[in-house]
Amino acid sequence: MEASNLKGLYAKVKTDKKIRTLVVAGFCTLVALAIFITLFSRSVLEVSVSGQVIGNVKNQQVLEQIKIALEQEYKDKLGADVEFAQEIKGVSVKAIGQKVDTEDEMIEKLEAALSFRLKAVAIKIDGEEIAMVKDKATAEMVLDRVKEHYINETPGELIKVEVAEKVKLVERYVYPNEVIDQEDAVNLILKGGVETRNYEVVQGDSLWSISRKENIPLDDLIKANPQLKSENELALGDILNLNEVKPLLNILLVKKVTYEEAIPYKTEVVKDNSLWTWDQKVKQPGESGSKEVASEVSFKNGVKVSQTVLGEKVIKEPVTRVVARGTKAEVAFRGSGRFLWPTVGQITSPFGRRGREFHTGIDIDQSKGAPVRASNAGTVTFAGWRGGYGNLVIINHGGGFETYYAHNSSISVSVGQQVEKSQQIAKVGSTGRSSGPHVHFEIRVNGSPVNPLDYLNK
Ligand SMILES: [Zn+2]
Repeated sequence: MEASNLKGLYAKVKTDKKIRTLVVAGFCTLVALAIFITLFSRSVLEVSVSGQVIGNVKNQQVLEQIKIALEQEYKDKLGADVEFAQEIKGVSVKAIGQKVDTEDEMIEKLEAALSFRLKAVAIKIDGEEIAMVKDKATAEMVLDRVKEHYINETPGELIKVEVAEKVKLVERYVYPNEVIDQEDAVNLILKGGVETRNYEVVQGDSLWSISRKENIPLDDLIKANPQLKSENELALGDILNLNEVKPLLNILLVKKVTYEEAIPYKTEVVKDNSLWTWDQKVKQPGESGSKEVASEVSFKNGVKVSQTVLGEKVIKEPVTRVVARGTKAEVAFRGSGRFLWPTVGQITSPFGRRGREFHTGIDIDQSKGAPVRASNAGTVTFAGWRGGYGNLVIINHGGGFETYYAHNSSISVSVGQQVEKSQQIAKVGSTGRSSGPHVHFEIRVNGSPVNPLDYLNK
């Protein structure tokens, strides 16, 4: 009984061992298969910028997180929405044999490979983009400042402002260096991008002399300065443009301008038979009036282009100048007393022969600086230095009459000037051939000296 039992038991054990081995081998195969499958089926995300592979990250989700973090970082840094200038692509690849970057490593690699564009606003004038600024508010401020510039530099009350061109603001992404600041954009529009050169008017300048000095054709200089209407308007210290400024925007303003204007006086001539025909007397001096003029003025880029007078209001009426002109015909000269003494004093040398010479007038003693007066009304025909006469004034009274006043220390009239009877014309002096202050006075009739005492009132 024992032997057969033992034999049976042994056989059973042998069979169990075989089964165990089979089970272990099977299990091992399964594990190996599982490892194999796991290794070969796992994948990572290969990241490329503009087609250039730069590394791997775990998966798409990690890449998206990195992109968002980068955008936020640059948005904070540049103060505007940003976009990547290049395309970032993620492609799934087998993980085996690949190194996976940490998030920090991938951020560093992307920063090196990428550039950013930021959202900005383009100012477009008649379809042409002329400047990029930070944002819409800045662009609007630029346009306002351009208008303000002309509004402030022209007089009057604003009625209307118009921009001749079509202006559009368009948002788009640009590189940071394409954006200019508000100040630069204003200057660009006002000056047309041309750097302006200026010239300050100095003593003795004319447009012609400036054009030669600065080597600019005269026509160009005139075109560059539309504010000048004529050469006479050049004033010391004026600033002229040496090149034509062509603003990118044409700003048209209509303003109500109120200013004061002088009303010239009229002259009325009345006949007076108590005066000689060559004589005249101002009975009432003229006085200019003034009026307030309101007008609507149009300006283009600060330069006046047209004006319509809206109304006038007289503030002060002018006073008519009344002149009496003589009608008394010449009868006799002698002893009429028509002529005034130019100064009152002792006669130190009479008219007539004086030794070998002939004294053509009378010398009236007077102290230096005393007034010399016109002996009668007339026109100044000479005022200046003449040899032995020194400072001389000659007055023509019409009717062939002239008077001479010599040796003056100074002269206060000029050639062509109308003088009234007894008007001061000079100051007593001792210029020319003279031994002391006095007035040498002559009356000439048709060019020949006559004795003044015959014509002066006694
Ligand atoms: Zn004399």
